[in-house]
Amino acid sequence: MKSHVKAVVIGGGVVGCSVLYHLAKAGWTDVMLIERSELTSGSSWHAAGGFHTLNGDPNVAKLQAYTVQLYKEIEEISGQSCSLHLTGGVMMADTPERMDFLRLAHAKGRYLGMDTELITPSEAKAMFPLMDETNFVGAMWDPVEGHLDPSGTTIAYSKAAKKLGAEIVLRNRVVDLTQQPDGTWNVVTEQGTVHAEHVVNCGGLWAREIGRMVGVELPVLAMEHMYLLTEPMPEVEEFNKSTGREMIGVLDFKGEIYTRQERNGILLGTYEKACKPWSPVNTPWDFGHELLPPDLDRIAPSLEIGFKHFPGIEKAGIKQIINGPFTFALDGNPLVGPVQGLTNFWCACAVMAGFSQGGGVGLALSNWMVHGDPGFDVWGMDVARFGEWAGLRYTNAKVRENYSRRFSIRFPNEELPAARPAQTTPLYDTMLANNAVMGDSWGLETPLWFAPKGKEPKDIVSFHRSNDFGPIGEEVRATREKVGVTEIANFAKYEVSGPAAEDFLNRLMTNRMPKIGRIVLTPMINEFGKLIGDFTIAKAGEDRFMIWGSSAAQKYHMRWFEKQLPKDGSVRIHRFDQTLVGLSIAGPKSRDLLQKLVDVDISTKAFRFMDFREMAVGGAPCMVNRITYTGDLGYEIWMAPTYQRLVYKAIKDAGEEFGLVDFGMRALLSMRLEKNFPTWYRELRPIYGPFEGSMDRFIKLEKNDFIGREAAAKEQAEGPKLRRVSFIVDAADADVMGDEPIWAKVSKDYGTVEKPHGYGAPRFDTAGKEVRGSKAAEGASAVRGIVDGDWRVVGWVTSGGYAHSVQKSMAQGYVPAALAEDESAGLFEIEILGHRRPARINIEAPFDPSGEKMRT
Ligand SMILES: Cc1cc2nc3c(=O)[nH]c(=O)nc-3n(C[C@H](O)[C@H](O)[C@H](O)COP(=O)(O)OP(=O)(O)OC[C@H]3O[C@@H](n4cnc5c(N)ncnc54)[C@H](O)[C@@H]3O)c2cc1C
Repeated sequence: MKSHVKAVVIGGGVVGCSVLYHLAKAGWTDVMLIERSELTSGSSWHAAGGFHTLNGDPNVAKLQAYTVQLYKEIEEISGQSCSLHLTGGVMMADTPERMDFLRLAHAKGRYLGMDTELITPSEAKAMFPLMDETNFVGAMWDPVEGHLDPSGTTIAYSKAAKKLGAEIVLRNRVVDLTQQPDGTWNVVTEQGTVHAEHVVNCGGLWAREIGRMVGVELPVLAMEHMYLLTEPMPEVEEFNKSTGREMIGVLDFKGEIYTRQERNGILLGTYEKACKPWSPVNTPWDFGHELLPPDLDRIAPSLEIGFKHFPGIEKAGIKQIINGPFTFALDGNPLVGPVQGLTNFWCACAVMAGFSQGGGVGLALSNWMVHGDPGFDVWGMDVARFGEWAGLRYTNAKVRENYSRRFSIRFPNEELPAARPAQTTPLYDTMLANNAVMGDSWGLETPLWFAPKGKEPKDIVSFHRSNDFGPIGEEVRATREKVGVTEIANFAKYEVSGPAAEDFLNRLMTNRMPKIGRIVLTPMINEFGKLIGDFTIAKAGEDRFMIWGSSAAQKYHMRWFEKQLPKDGSVRIHRFDQTLVGLSIAGPKSRDLLQKLVDVDISTKAFRFMDFREMAVGGAPCMVNRITYTGDLGYEIWMAPTYQRLVYKAIKDAGEEFGLVDFGMRALLSMRLEKNFPTWYRELRPIYGPFEGSMDRFIKLEKNDFIGREAAAKEQAEGPKLRRVSFIVDAADADVMGDEPIWAKVSKDYGTVEKPHGYGAPRFDTAGKEVRGSKAAEGASAVRGIVDGDWRVVGWVTSGGYAHSVQKSMAQGYVPAALAEDESAGLFEIEILGHRRPARINIEAPFDPSGEKMRT
């Protein structure tokens, strides 16, 4: 065993071996994987080996597609077979709602280069004759699905990594990790200490314990998971013989089961409601290649539905039941990337679908470690996406909720109840008393909308406009016509101070820093010229700046700030979290209202648009920004939590004469739409350049040599490839939710949005005739679903909804820049729940296009 290496990867499951392979492939050959036992000694060996490309997050779906494509490569390099069976698979819908869900997934696939297809239950039955198709209303076919040998695949990664020069040390547990003053690590193992620049936690079932070695409680929990294998079935053998093919994979949402052929029988797994965590506090180090006792009673309700839906399986004898643990994060996606607050400590854990995601995780992480950037939009998997609130008990409740809902529909207006309320502001009870429907905003209870008196404050979940539509409309109209108040405690807030604070921010931000008492809006980009933040910054004093940003990105941004911080202590950063809370008032009467509560002149000239002041509001010390996300005349008022009730009461009392209403986060988001304002992580993400994001006026290339300036200058000189644009949509009773494809009637080629993968498994129709699931062989332009006559998919929606004061359905999204700028290109359609609705680009904000109201 070497004593010094560039990086140590802890854990020889499929994920650790993939990370090792990708690091070596990227040129870091001086890397070592340390495994406490043999390879695949965690959850990898007993996996069912299924893989697929679909994921609720399109960016994770892309990485899954990469994983599947990788298997041929590692087989070739290693000479080890993964026993790949690319059978294709179907997802079965038993209700119209589930069919809507499949339509959404299918629509997303269009610009992701996926080749899914909506098919009838009879077509599905032709590929999996054990089902009773009368239980279903429709299905979606995905050619890029199948199964493999989990151990063989893990070994293939490891052999390929070794061929590239990586070292693997077996039967050697890492017992401790200690950081050196220079940021490098001493990896203490049973066989001695290895010094490494970087450490990667791929500990799978023990990832939590490895996190604890460095003082981090990772939000990950193992759950028991069962699947059963049947005895050989004559129906399966007969099907194979008569068609010359294997049966496909089937996912049945209603039964919460997945099933596929395994040898001459069937494998059937469940995600049961009565799920059970495994080792909820500590994972025993002596757990090895062993299985957990099966518990058929627990999965009986799923089996009952499964046998009804797939009567062919009920008749078969059960040969074996596998019960094994594997890990999940709160939302079911992996935890990948550098851990904020630590140097060179990386995570690739909570990978619940190692054989769909392991390759993509390895690629993203190795890019990040070697080149400083994951190279993809990995927010959906970023270890920084959860805050301190995601502790052991919170994680336990949320992971159980996620597991039990794995095959449930998550509606766009659906808030999930587990582990709530976790964090509350002092106004929580008041908001409940006001009939607020609360939502979870990065662990904080936040009012979403207010139900009318006498009505239950509860969302009716739906893909269509729902019971919040009317009340949100009222909140918006009253705010636009008079004045409204809302809680904004869920924004991120930071203070940057010290003699070098201004230089520091100038280096990080694309816009100039404000003068004392003024505010600027500014994006932040990385060295590659991609958007990694969008902030409101006020200069509060000579060496002191207040910063507001996206709540969910707090750890992500702190990680970046800390990385850029000068080592000499000349800049300090403080993240307030919930030690600073806020209220926003907006609307034409907001100044009259605020004037009643303050003892200073806040007339137009005395307190201008984009001014910042510290002043007492209702007697409480506050910071006030003359700016709001509503795009109206308005103010953001920030105070310590101890004063929040006082200020709110003062606003409510003084507001009565002006017709003040409470409004929630959904009304705020509706109002920002009609101003064409973008949101972070929807419109602005690290896959877009600042000009693509239409943030041109905030990019001051001439100001100084800020991070990413060169790349931004190049983007501007060459012209952005994409453009963020806003649309008005002729919607019916459903508005866009995000991720819908944008179609255009185009007479010329404006550039393909995404290349299709170019391969797929065969499928066959009810007559047993083969149909190619993928038309890739006929050329990219013929790929199913991207072209329809003169129409083609040209982009995707990032967010949208109903803009209540202008009474229009709106969407924002990305299309090729040449198309956005071509005035002769007029006709667009946006696909909402399978129906293509006419849409037109809308350049000027429909509400107050000149910005006069907010400047008044
Ligand atoms: C019953 C079942 C069915 C499944 N079916 C599928 C499926 O069909 N498709 C799919 O994609 N996924 C499936 N999974 C999930 C899949 O198994 C996991 O996604 C995958 O195994 C995760 O791999 P990993 O490398 O992250 O973790 P693990 O496989 O748990 O590997 C972690 C490794 O780290 C080692 N280690 C831990 N701590 C230390 C230490 N301190 N020092 C040295 N070594 C250490 C362990 O010994 C272990 O070998 C299934 C899981 C189960 C249980």
